[in-house]
Order: sequence, then structure tokens, then C-alpha cells
Amino acid sequence: MKNNDTIAAIATPRGHGGIGIIRISGPLVTKVAYVILGKIPKKRQAEYLPFRNKDGLILDQGIALFFSSPDSFTGEDILELQGHGGPVILDLLLQQIISLSGLRIARPGEFLERAFLNNKLDLIQAEAIADLIDASSIQAARAAINSLQGIFSERINELVELLTNLRVDIESTIDFSEEKIDLFSKIKIESRINNLITRIDSIQNNANYGCLLREGMKVVIAGKPNAGKSSLLNALVGNDVAIVTPIAGTTRDVLREHIYFLDGMPLHITDTAGLGHSFDEVEKIGIERARFEIEKADHVLLIIDSTTTPTPIIDQYIYWSIIDCLPTNIPITIIRNKADITGEKICISEIKGYPIITISAKINLGVDFLLTYLHKIIGFTSSTEGIFLARRRHLDALETAAKYLGQCKLKLTNYYANEIELLAEDLRLAQQALSEITGEFSSDNLIKKIFSTFCIGK
Ligand code: GDP
Repeated sequence: MKNNDTIAAIATPRGHGGIGIIRISGPLVTKVAYVILGKIPKKRQAEYLPFRNKDGLILDQGIALFFSSPDSFTGEDILELQGHGGPVILDLLLQQIISLSGLRIARPGEFLERAFLNNKLDLIQAEAIADLIDASSIQAARAAINSLQGIFSERINELVELLTNLRVDIESTIDFSEEKIDLFSKIKIESRINNLITRIDSIQNNANYGCLLREGMKVVIAGKPNAGKSSLLNALVGNDVAIVTPIAGTTRDVLREHIYFLDGMPLHITDTAGLGHSFDEVEKIGIERARFEIEKADHVLLIIDSTTTPTPIIDQYIYWSIIDCLPTNIPITIIRNKADITGEKICISEIKGYPIITISAKINLGVDFLLTYLHKIIGFTSSTEGIFLARRRHLDALETAAKYLGQCKLKLTNYYANEIELLAEDLRLAQQALSEITGEFSSDNLIKKIFSTFCIGK
């Protein structure tokens, strides 16, 4: 796809730094080079030159790099001006560039979008660049590199190829409409579908892990007022982020804090207002918001004050909390807090299928034990070997593809001749879902939406 306009943007972060880079891409790059540099720099060679305005006044001096189409990042002519990293000087230079006719400031992610539209990379790789820049841990950065190198794309492309072959075989049967799938062919098709389902399953496992590494996990601390929710948050995060006070109902609004641990996976821990019944309007709002947060949680730590809730009434407490407040589909771990007062041992036990961990948040007793436990139940390992970073949209597309393959298999098992078209349709939809992941088949809206979330200069 050809773009007639030429775009420019500051590619380095705003602020003061040693170097600031302006990137220009499009058909008018050579015109910009003539105006600003007085010449077109040699391709792919760094040239040290003055950067001038239209009247010949020197604004800055630095390195100019020219990449000609199609051998550039975007596939178009690109000029990079590496000047001094001050906001005033960079803005001045950018103003000069975009004042030339046919030039404009790039939209967020537009360089990457052009690279994608010119087949320089697929959608997974474009997203991987954004994820690499935004990576919050070494593991996430490594996984983003794996995606950028094409590990994820290759696995999707392999699948798409297998699906295409299967579709060709099945659709050719439709062409001979009198022909029916004999038993032997049916077994072979079923085994090919099974193979595809197994492969998707394995990619899903990996993608789930990659998504966890990118997005982390949301853990919500819930419980009655004064049970020690804020104290637990402080103990986990390691500093006094929440106000801890003996007056019930202090955490009136939802507090948010996240920590980085578990081998690079961000764990977003949210402390909530105390669950329970309140007549105070502000507290009521806090409690409502607590429920709202709990509904979005991947895991709930339901904290119990062990001094006021001895073991025999825990059942009732859990019953009350779950029936009254907590959704049943979210995993819950019960935390028996204030073990320093009751003298209970730090341990893990179980009641009615709910794990119970005894700790003391105030004196930091058993908090490491709790972290190790969370680490274990999430099933997170430190190895990033072959792990690629994934997004929710990838998981959704994989699930859709698996769903259509499952449907196709079911129809095949209950096969009768006039359903061949339906088998073919399921396979087509499965392939479409997979192709959306790499962007081979994606609506313009989806593409625009994805790239608009990237920042300017990317
Ligand atoms: P929240 O309302 O559930 O957030 O409870 P807080 O974290 O504000 O704690 C309420 C009170 O219990 C405070 O006075 C805390 O110091 C105290 N507390 C919290 N955890 C412990 C603990 O493990 N041991 C003891 N002795 N006191 C605790």
C-alpha cells in the first residue's frame, strides 16, 4: 500500500538527553534532505552534517542516516536526524520539516503501521516492538524478542498452512458434489483436525504464559474491616502504601498497587475497602467498588482476623463472604491473619476445598510463604526458553480457531454427505481467526485500533 504523504516525528523520549532523533518516512524524504542537509546522504552511511532551516540558518548539527525504499524499516525512504536531545531544538527542527508541503506529524504507531502495510513485519512482530519498549521485566523483554524474531508467527503460519491444505482437500470434494467422504478419508481428516487442535492447545499454553508475563495477574485482597488487608498489602509491596489504622473502615476507596516479582511477572495487588454492611454512604461506595474489583480478579485473598474468627466459625465466615459478596468462579485463598497474637503456626491447611494460609501481616511472618504459594499455584517458571509475548486478542483468536475446529470435528463424526460445505466453512472460519493474529486477515478497524495504542515516533 502506497502512502502519498510523508510523516515525521521525534522518535526519542521528550526531555533532555545526549541525543534526540527525528525520523521521517515517505516519498518526500529526499526533498527534506535537500532542504535540511543540502544534500541526500549516502545510503546507510552515517554523515555528520549541519541541520539548517529553509533560510540556511544552522539549527543543530549531528548524524544523518538515509535508507532508501524498499530497504528500510517502513519500506519507504527514511531519513533519521540524530541531533542534540533538547526539546526546544528538536521541536524547532520538527517544525521546519513539517512546514514543507506534503509533510505532517506522524500519528501514534504510524511508522510501524507503514512497516506492517509494506510487509516488513507482521502484526505479531509490530506488537512485539511495542511490548519490547514497554517491557517491565527482563523476562518480558526476552519473550518480546522471541516474538519479534518470529517464533510466534512461525507457529501460527505452520498452522495456517496445515489448515489451508486440509481446506483444499475438503473443498475439492465439494467440487465433485456427488462424491461422499468415504470412511478411510474421514479417519484421515479427523486425525488431521486432531493434529491441528493439539497444536493450537500447545500454542495456547505458551500464549497464556506470555500473556501473563505481559499483563500479570490481578490479586485482590478482600475481607472485613480491620482484618489486616492494608497491612498485608504493605507487607507484600514492602513499603507503606496503604494507611494502616485500627479504626474499621479506613480503606474507604479502592487502593491500587502493583509489585514486580515472580520471575518477572507483574502481580497487581489491589487492597479493597472492607466487605460488610455499612450505613456510611462513603463506605458503601467503597464496598461497591471493592466488589467491582473482586469481579475482575484472577485470584482473591480473603483475609480473616484470626483473633475474632476462631477456626470453628471460619465455615460461616467463608459462607457469608462467598454467598454475600464474592463471585464463586474466582479462585480464593483464605488468609488467617494476626498469627502473632493467636500464636498459631505459619502453615497451609484447607477447609471445604479452600486453601488457608496462616500469617501475620504486621510482623511480616509467613508473607514469603504466601508468595511462594502464589508462585506455585500460578505455575510460573523462570525459563523464557521459546516463550513469546502474547496479548489477549491472540488468546481470543486461538480460542475461536479451536472452537471452529472442535465444531468441524463434531460435524465430521456425525457426518452425512450434505454437510461437507459446513465442514469447509468451519475450517475457513478457524483459518480466518488464526490469520487475524498475524494480521494476514484483519479488518482495517482492527489494524487502526492496534497501531493507535502505540506511541508517537514508533
Ligand atoms: P484493614 O481494615 O483490613 O485494611 O486492616 P488494617 O491493615 O488497617 O489493620 C487493622 C489493624 O490490625 C491495625 O491496627 C493493624 O496494625 C492491625 N494488624 C494488621 N495485621 C496484624 C497482624 O498480623 N498482627 C497484629 N497484631 N495486628 C495486625
